[in-house]
Amino acid sequence: MRRETFLPFARPSIDESTIEDVCESLRSGWITTGPKSIRFENAFRERIGTSYALAVNSATAGLHLAQLALGIGPGDEVITTPMTFVATLNTIVLAGARPVLVDIDPGTFNMDPGRLESAVTPKTKAIVPVHFAGLPVDLDPVSEVAQRHGLAVIEDCAHALGASYKGRAVGSDPGHVSVFSFHPTKNITTGEGGMVCTGLEEVAERVAILRQHGMSKGAWSRYAATGTPHYDVALPGLKYNMMDIQAAIGLGQLSRLDEFNARRASIVERYRSAFSGLDGLILPATPSYEHVHAWHIFTPLLDLDLLDLTRDGFMSLMREANIGTAYHYQAVHLFDFYRKTFGFRPGDFPNAERVSERIVSLPLFPAMTDSDVEDVIEAVTSIVKSHLQRGGKRA
Ligand SMILES: *Cc1c(COP(=O)(O)O)cnc(C)c1O
Repeated sequence: MRRETFLPFARPSIDESTIEDVCESLRSGWITTGPKSIRFENAFRERIGTSYALAVNSATAGLHLAQLALGIGPGDEVITTPMTFVATLNTIVLAGARPVLVDIDPGTFNMDPGRLESAVTPKTKAIVPVHFAGLPVDLDPVSEVAQRHGLAVIEDCAHALGASYKGRAVGSDPGHVSVFSFHPTKNITTGEGGMVCTGLEEVAERVAILRQHGMSKGAWSRYAATGTPHYDVALPGLKYNMMDIQAAIGLGQLSRLDEFNARRASIVERYRSAFSGLDGLILPATPSYEHVHAWHIFTPLLDLDLLDLTRDGFMSLMREANIGTAYHYQAVHLFDFYRKTFGFRPGDFPNAERVSERIVSLPLFPAMTDSDVEDVIEAVTSIVKSHLQRGGKRA
């Protein structure tokens, strides 16, 4: 069975009024950071329930700035997970620090907080938990370890907009620095973009300055009718600010976040019921603590003990059915740079490696129709069933 049209694994939903608002920015003559960026920050701050929300041009930029603002640099260690997008680790290295990894929980794919404390050394400065797929990390034990050792916590919330942990929005912890992504595959998009949230005033001030050359004042407060031209430079900064063109998209997207996430959750519910009891496919585990999942991606594991198929083989068969899938992620410690520079080797983080060999992301985006969802279910079921080894290696 092959679909007539290709179904991608992700696609943003951008409505006409948002497109009109982008055009309005383009026509207005003010296209970079300005009134819409400020409105987007305010709307985001209220949505998360945080004191400061600072718009940047990507989550990668936000993660980099968070570490610079916290004073993380050469000689420091930062603890994170091998099951993440490489930007999480790249920014640690770019800040000058050494990434230290702790293995994941094999069921939820999140950093296992039980392994955290043994990774702490006198050089440790921060922990970067990643809410994988939109499932909140068990933050209480993470915060406890951080407090006991005086460590900063930078939450990589790239997958987790709209998630909550024990009744609180992910990204709202006032003592943490939380970074969101608006890349086109994420729960909302600005094309490219990100947001840094925190309750720490000094960190927020430093992020605000470092995102625009270290200047005390942005272009909007210099060139607008009420602006003044002078500024000072406190620190050499970067160029990580968000444009109003992006913020216009973000405002339209944020107003639809609940609608988007509700659709994501209902698609996942359908997947879960269709795949429960399907031999050859292992569904992500649900932790017992109270949480709301943001369902950025839906990532079952292929049970390679029962199938005569690799994950990559499965992905090409899905492609033959005209359905896109994605790979989130290769365990980061096995990338060439990380092996060579930090001496990571296969076998270092067995849970992450095992998951990394088996994981696949199925199509999941709000504009998927019910019949798209059924096409995915039919293709997955038929591929998995026709590749079950008789008896299985396990039997
Ligand atoms: C997407 C992503 C990032 C980077 O986000 P950008 O906005 O593309 O820079 C960082 N961490 C994780 C876990 C991501 O999925």
